[in-house]
Amino acid sequence: MTNDALIQVKDLHKSFHDLEVLKGVSEEIHKGEVVSIIGPSGSGKSTFLRCLNLLETPDKGQVIFEGVDITDQSVDIDKHRQKMGMIFQHFNVFPHLTVLENITLAPTLELGQSKEEAQKNACELLAKVGLLDKKDEYPRKLSGGQKQRLAIVRALAMNPDVILMDEPTSALDPEMVKDVLEVIKELADQGMTIVIVTHEMAFAKQISDRVFFMDQGIIQEKGTPQEVFEHPQNPRTIDFLSKVL
Ligand code: ADP
Ligand code: MG
Repeated sequence: MTNDALIQVKDLHKSFHDLEVLKGVSEEIHKGEVVSIIGPSGSGKSTFLRCLNLLETPDKGQVIFEGVDITDQSVDIDKHRQKMGMIFQHFNVFPHLTVLENITLAPTLELGQSKEEAQKNACELLAKVGLLDKKDEYPRKLSGGQKQRLAIVRALAMNPDVILMDEPTSALDPEMVKDVLEVIKELADQGMTIVIVTHEMAFAKQISDRVFFMDQGIIQEKGTPQEVFEHPQNPRTIDFLSKVL
């Protein structure tokens, strides 16, 4: 095993009933790396991402996170999952909690932080994404872009070692997208390890160290943004990019 792999995926398979969605994916994500996953709808991108933190249980194969095989049944998955932040398309923040409470809940319950410590940390993070003045609001008072920034802050408050993002801007009105992408870019610049499924091709090109093109349940092509976007080799990649660029 290479030592700098934060996440190692070995021969991952996943089916839903008769539908084979992941057909053997083997990859490594390195510490500090930003990996974008692109590809057509239904190709298995979300399933792959959800297998990384075992929101979906693979049928076969292994996910090794920080040297631990988290697909091993005897592993306490909650402990490892804490270190993997997850951001969904539909910013699922808790509607009945204030912005501040949304952020401090897990650090106090799961990391044992004092309320004061968690609140101080939350306020610092909120200030960074321009939401400090919203700390006592309920999520219904926030725009989609603000809710997504809250979701990102909530994930960051757990001090994750990687953040998994599944189309974080797809559900946003166009004018909200930029603010959220800026927050993600800042995280990338700070060295956060990020795996992001996105349809924002220009953004993927800008922030990624590597791009995976997924289609029909496998990673068909991967490389630097220059390689994948400017010199794609696989006919499927070429066809996909001709439709989206
Ligand atoms: P993508 O994110 O690339 O659009 P997904 O991983 O969401 O693709 O889905 C791949 C395929 O698996 C799709 O055909 C989808 O309908 C199917 N699928 C995903 N999740 C489930 C599920 N929980 N139950 C049944 N089918 C699913
Ligand atoms: Mg998806």
